Amino acid sequence: MFLVKDKQNYLFQFSALVQIPGLVHAAVSRMGGASRPPFDGLNLSHGVGDDPAAVTANRNRLRQMAGGGVHVYTRQNHGTSIRTITREAIDRGESIQTVPVPADALISDVPGIRLLIQTADCQAVMLVDPQKRVVANIHCGWRGSVADIIGRTVLRMVAEFGCEPGQMTAAIGPSLGPCCAEFINFKDEIPRQFWPFRVGANHFDFWRISRHQLTAAGLMEDNVHGPGICTRCNPHLFFSYRAARATGRFAALIGVR
Ligand SMILES: [Zn+2]
Repeated sequence: MFLVKDKQNYLFQFSALVQIPGLVHAAVSRMGGASRPPFDGLNLSHGVGDDPAAVTANRNRLRQMAGGGVHVYTRQNHGTSIRTITREAIDRGESIQTVPVPADALISDVPGIRLLIQTADCQAVMLVDPQKRVVANIHCGWRGSVADIIGRTVLRMVAEFGCEPGQMTAAIGPSLGPCCAEFINFKDEIPRQFWPFRVGANHFDFWRISRHQLTAAGLMEDNVHGPGICTRCNPHLFFSYRAARATGRFAALIGVR
């Protein structure tokens, strides 16, 4: 992952995704933006108690920074609902630009659409099949990991678009690392099959779980990237729910031109 600075705003990008022609993506830092503490500065969520005018200004700023397009936001609930944004839905006039889509994963092959996932410690897992020109963005917290929303999304891309997992590239956004993913009640919360991903007494490596689920779904190990940066360890760069319960949400976005 490397840093791109645009005025006072900062985006992170993955080299492997930058190399794919026509692909737009970013993991957006909290730097810059109009929100005041504790949501300072580029909070993109209307659901955390921030001033709606500031959030709208931040979303507009992000759209400019990321080169335009139709930004589709979600209303995430740590479930396994996956929504495909189709040309037909847009033609029907579905209000995807103004009303958040109730889903934890979005898929689209429509040029100009940008799929946004908002996080503060959870993972945003960006997926692209460069041949089929289909992208997905997944909200994956520990509940999503347990439910394998990653594998479910890959299967949906295969079923609906004929995507080939062996050709797909994945990038995991900044999120809670094994350094900070402590689950003191893991025996009640985390199924036993995930216990091999435990680090020390009661920390878990959810990055490695996602890598495992992506390769189990057919992706090549070499085509899975990131993040290597923990949100809790970098609260000046990213919102972290574990670092401060009252906080904002940053976003990862992906789309095709
Ligand atoms: Zn950490």
